[in-house]
Amino acid sequence: MATTKKRELDLKDFPPGTVTEFTTLVCLACIFDIFTRQLGLAPRTAFSEIKRHTPTTEELTSRSATRPYFDTDDKHPHCPYCGSTKRWLARFDTYCIEGGKTTDAARRTLIKTLPKVGDQFVVVEKKSDSRAVLFEWLDTLGVNLDLTEESWLLDATRNYLSRREPKTNWEEVFQEIRAVRRSSRLTEGSERDGIRLFLAPDLYGEAILIQYLVSRSHTHGGLTLEGRLTLMDLIRRLRYIGYLDRIGITERDPGEVFEKLIDHLAATRDWSRVTTPGTKEVSTGSGSDRAGRAKKSSKKATKKSSTSEKSRTPALPEPDEIMTEPVKLYYLIDRRDFLEKSKSVYASYA
Ligand SMILES: [Zn+2]
Repeated sequence: MATTKKRELDLKDFPPGTVTEFTTLVCLACIFDIFTRQLGLAPRTAFSEIKRHTPTTEELTSRSATRPYFDTDDKHPHCPYCGSTKRWLARFDTYCIEGGKTTDAARRTLIKTLPKVGDQFVVVEKKSDSRAVLFEWLDTLGVNLDLTEESWLLDATRNYLSRREPKTNWEEVFQEIRAVRRSSRLTEGSERDGIRLFLAPDLYGEAILIQYLVSRSHTHGGLTLEGRLTLMDLIRRLRYIGYLDRIGITERDPGEVFEKLIDHLAATRDWSRVTTPGTKEVSTGSGSDRAGRAKKSSKKATKKSSTSEKSRTPALPEPDEIMTEPVKLYYLIDRRDFLEKSKSVYASYA
């Protein structure tokens, strides 16, 4: 009865990149234990409380899940806390839908089609802002890249370009690409030469900035196409290639420069939405798709385009245009498996 197939929601009406999916397992043995032992509820009460329980969006989407939640790639998962097997494990599927013009209608329609009884689905609304969305994107990207494989630099670049230049099918371009270089000739855009891809300095600068941001917590400094860089090194490169000047960053203090870089990146690109049609983000290729598909999309695509167009044109510094824009996120939580499993577990108890 609890097959996974029929559970898939139909998301085809959402533009590519507008929905991020998360899967989290919950151990019913652990949750039962928490409700009875730690909270001191009688078993019967515990089960009726558990049925009403919905994890927070943080619990559903965070990568460092804590008891009774966990995340696994295993086909035959065990609870990491108590060792319980399949029948005790329920899954929550969470769909994070970016609010906005391109998704509002599809979201409303989808929600209308969902069963209403018994809180099988719960929708939680949250405000985010562009900086938070950028970091979420970076975070997801980092998790899905294997930083021990050198090819991650290309994957990170491809993911960045998909955000930056969504009209190009970068997936296809990168099938042949083995190296990415800074072009000394181009002032904008990119150019392919055999297995090499040349990027205009601004694109290249942002690509290495992204690489730095993704890898800096991984090890000391950050790994980029330019090798391992400290923040000072990175700033020096970005200044050297003229990127800092072009986006109007005149500060000298590395901390301030860094903050401005982040703000600029967050406010002038669409980290939450635009993505190449048909592009899938780097996937870990295994069962657990927690954040495996980071795709979101487009609300202020039009509103923001004036900003991004400008920033694409060199010599138009825009330090004052940097802003943090609120973005509304809708977390659609599928509780069906959880409800069914709790019921059957309780039945076996009673
Ligand atoms: Zn457990």
